[in-house]
Amino acid sequence: MHLVTFHESGTERIGVLDRARGEVTDLARAAPTLPRDMQGLIALGDGGVEAARRAFDSGAARLPLEQVRLCAPLRPARNLFCVGKNYRDHVNEVRTPGVAGAEAEPEVPIFFTKATTCVIGPGEPIPARLDPTRSVDYEGELAVVIGRGGRGIARAGALDHVYGYTIVNDVTSRHLQKRHRQWFLGKSLDGFCPLGPALVTRAAVPEVAALRILTRVNGETRQDGAAADMIFDIPTLIETLSAYVTLQPGDILSTGTPAGVGAGFTPPRFLRPGDRVAITLEPIGVLENPVI
Ligand code: MG
Repeated sequence: MHLVTFHESGTERIGVLDRARGEVTDLARAAPTLPRDMQGLIALGDGGVEAARRAFDSGAARLPLEQVRLCAPLRPARNLFCVGKNYRDHVNEVRTPGVAGAEAEPEVPIFFTKATTCVIGPGEPIPARLDPTRSVDYEGELAVVIGRGGRGIARAGALDHVYGYTIVNDVTSRHLQKRHRQWFLGKSLDGFCPLGPALVTRAAVPEVAALRILTRVNGETRQDGAAADMIFDIPTLIETLSAYVTLQPGDILSTGTPAGVGAGFTPPRFLRPGDRVAITLEPIGVLENPVI
């Protein structure tokens, strides 16, 4: 099931997307007792998913997709958790010759966060002009949305804590990332986290490892990776993070990017105003944003 947050007639509500028919079930009308925002729905767990499905199946309160504007499916309550260097081919492409240590393949997952204020929805512009160093880069990524929180979550049961999946573009100012010796700042500029277009529930993605991540810039394929190639898989990431941090419903964990980022080219191919970045990750959909 494709859960979405949309804007229509002056308000933001949640709904269920029917991709085949190009319609959105307005849950505020089809299931008026449900919460009006995604965090509230996630807090209801499986019961909320079932209620949304019943509303979707009823055929009630459907809006044509052209009549609504899709927003980021959820606005995280706290910083997004992210993983750096989680694909071997990406580690190799950003390796700096002659620099030891930090550039090697990680032995444990590298975590950092992105500020909630950088989240934007599908179609919203990525404001590259906010980066004075003109080194804005894209990173197409599969992101996990946590359903049931917890601390000390074991690898074996980790996927039971996953509510669903979405797409993140971990937009990065490469020069700020290097200059400040910590990734937070270069990855947290306003608008540097396109998210969406849908939150797809876990049951609709039975084989996460089979997912393919395609990033195109102006129609040219730059990244073509497989989730199966992650160095640390999703259960390992959840086990490692939750060993120290209590996970909460609605937390977002972005799992890293495969090879093909702009910084990996010689010379680098950074984003420029007028570009369009489209990340395709089926069955979630396409997350496309213009650059300004
Ligand atoms: Mg990343």
